[in-house]
Amino acid sequence: MTTIAIRSLSCPFCQHEMTSYEIMSYHVYSSETYSDGFVENNPPMLSNSNILICSDCHKPFWRSDIKMKDPHEEGISNDKLDGLPKVMDIFDLSFAKDEDFSISMCIYYQQLLDSGFANTEEREFELRMKLWHQINNEFRYFPSSWIDALLQNELSLYIKRNKRRPRKHDKEAEIRPLFRSNLKQLLSIFKAESEEDYLLRSEIYRELGDFKRAKKQLKMIKELKNTKTYKKIKRAIVLRRTSVFKIT
Ligand SMILES: [Zn+2]
Repeated sequence: MTTIAIRSLSCPFCQHEMTSYEIMSYHVYSSETYSDGFVENNPPMLSNSNILICSDCHKPFWRSDIKMKDPHEEGISNDKLDGLPKVMDIFDLSFAKDEDFSISMCIYYQQLLDSGFANTEEREFELRMKLWHQINNEFRYFPSSWIDALLQNELSLYIKRNKRRPRKHDKEAEIRPLFRSNLKQLLSIFKAESEEDYLLRSEIYRELGDFKRAKKQLKMIKELKNTKTYKKIKRAIVLRRTSVFKIT
C-alpha cells in the first residue's frame, strides 16, 4: 500500500510558501535492474526527490536542508493548503517538454555540479549517479546489436533507430565528453568497500572502455553474493562491450 503525507515548506531563498508530499510507504510489484545500478520499478517509482525547485524563483535546494512541516500542526487550514503551489522538481522545469529533454537535463545536472550545489561528497555522488543514469537512459532501452535485437524481438525498432543514426551521432557526440568526465569524477570520490561498490566500480571502468581495470575490480571481491550481476558484467568485459544492459 502507498501512503503519502502532505507537507508545507518555504523556499530558503525567497520564502515562497509551497506544499510537497512525503512517501511514507510504497509497494513495488516488480522491478528491473541495469548494469549501472539503475532500478526501474513497477509501478513507476514515487520518490521523495532530494532536489526540489522553488515554484516562484526556480532556484534548486536540497530537501534535507529545509524543514518539512506538518500543515495541521502548523494550524494551516485545508482551504489555504489547497491554494498553495506545489514545490517543483527537475521534471517540472520548462525544458522537460523539449524534444531533447534528456540532453538539457544532463546539462542542468552538470551546471548544478559546476555551481557547487552538491556541497558534500555524498551529494556529489548522488548527483553524479543521476547524471550517469540520465545519459544512459538514451541507450538503456535499445538493443546494442542486431543479434540482441533479434533475440529480444525488437529488430524493427533497431532498424528504425539506425535509420536515424546521423542525428543520434550528434547527440552522442554532444554528451560523450560529459559522460567520460562524470564517470572519472565518480571514480575519484567513490571508494569501494563492499561487493556492490566493486561491481559498480567495475561497471564504470567497463563503460569507459578500460576493461583491464574493470576486470581488476571484480577480482577484489572477497565474498561473492550477487553472482548474476558479477557474471553478466564479467561476460560484457570479455566481449569488450561498453553499453549499459539489463541484469534482471
Ligand atoms: Zn524561491
